[in-house]
Amino acid sequence: MDPRFEETTDVLRRTADHALAYLQTLHDRRVHPLTSPAEMRASLGGPLPDDGVPPREVVDQLVAATERGVVASAGPRYFGFVIGGALPAALAADWMTSAWDQNAVLYATSPAAAAAEMVVADWLLDLFDLPRGTSVGLTTGCQMANFTAIAAARRAVLAKRGWDVERDGLQGAPRIRIVVGGEGHVTIDVALQMLGLGTATAERVPTDDQGRMRPDALEAVLAAGDIGAPMIVCAQIGNVNSGASDDITKIAELVQRLDAGWLHVDGAFGLWARAVPELRLQLDGVEQADSWATDAHKWLNVPYDSGLVFVRDQAAHRGSMLMSAAYLVAGEADQRDPSSYVPESSRRARGFALYAALKSLGRRGVADLVQRCCSLAARLAAQLARAPGVEVLNEVALNQVLVRFGDDDELTRRTIRHVQEDGTCWLGGSTWQGKAVMRISVSNWSTTEADIDLSAEAILRCFAQAQGAQR
Ligand SMILES: *Cc1c(COP(=O)(O)O)cnc(C)c1O
Repeated sequence: MDPRFEETTDVLRRTADHALAYLQTLHDRRVHPLTSPAEMRASLGGPLPDDGVPPREVVDQLVAATERGVVASAGPRYFGFVIGGALPAALAADWMTSAWDQNAVLYATSPAAAAAEMVVADWLLDLFDLPRGTSVGLTTGCQMANFTAIAAARRAVLAKRGWDVERDGLQGAPRIRIVVGGEGHVTIDVALQMLGLGTATAERVPTDDQGRMRPDALEAVLAAGDIGAPMIVCAQIGNVNSGASDDITKIAELVQRLDAGWLHVDGAFGLWARAVPELRLQLDGVEQADSWATDAHKWLNVPYDSGLVFVRDQAAHRGSMLMSAAYLVAGEADQRDPSSYVPESSRRARGFALYAALKSLGRRGVADLVQRCCSLAARLAAQLARAPGVEVLNEVALNQVLVRFGDDDELTRRTIRHVQEDGTCWLGGSTWQGKAVMRISVSNWSTTEADIDLSAEAILRCFAQAQGAQR
């Protein structure tokens, strides 16, 4: 055997063993480690060695040194933020992606990576029931999906006024009105920040008690300014706290009346509910938007990083991501250049893991995964709400639950701290309509009813502890 290959064989076999040993502990290790920045630095740190360390030793040492700082967020009782795990097929395809080490920049650099993106794009348009022919980009996450969609929107609404923003920039351009729901995700603000549109100039639309943009308030906001101006309206399905979704049918109707309007929908996790027949009803009208952003690393349980952007107007999408140089040979019409749809140039071939996830689940499997998480969230909400002093503040429309303890900010925060220290499950806090809340997101493919029951028990135990400490 070629000695270079011997070393590779040895280290990869060893790594597979390490990975399996870790994954085996996911179901019963404490969910969040008790470590400190100093401890982590000390165990990983030290000077860069003058001479290299053999690969096998590097991996052994890395695994040992990170052991106390790795969060079991891929496991079944991690309910923080909105974080999915990694489906077995997706994880395996992700390993292959690294082994192949393709640069998914051009068709020329990887016909296979380009084809995987095309296939996945068709599957997803079908699954979400978005207009066929919509153009799709595979981004690092929903942040860059929102960025890409708003870049395409910026191009399109300014083109309607005869302005080429990619060539001439924003200086001297017609003013664009940006309209965002009052509960818009922070990554919309970051996109506005990066695209030169600014955050302070965005007009915020009041929301209802679930955080949904109020269509009547949108109508009033639109009418209060220049209705003929180029306009980008950002709506949302799946509020990051409550899980609630805007009424896109009504919002789209208002935006379609505008002369130069664009409707963007941030559906980082909410868009996946479109794959579930029983949940479709609350997401009617979503197909009428101009662009959509979502994540695969959240609810589809694809390993990080994996986001998706969809743009109805392919020319606007590609035009806003334009990159041309003599040495970059653009593909023929039937040859997709993956970088034409995203901000990055050289990039990971993230289509393979998406392909594997979707293929391993099938249409029914995706629907089951999403539906199961929603049912488990409802189960947890019901178990908590039964206890005296515990209140669920949101309508559990999807997989998110907002819980308040003793109707008291301090007690709620203390309960969250106790749960985090307890280690049975992990979740975070947030503020909902001015009140401190515990925020629970059920997004993992492997979570079972037993995990939910164990977690409910732990949460109520920690609430009792927090009450005891207060007395
Ligand atoms: C998570 C989330 C985002 C950002 O997604 P990233 O994957 O972190 O980039 C945007 N919008 C909503 C509603 C989200 O929940």
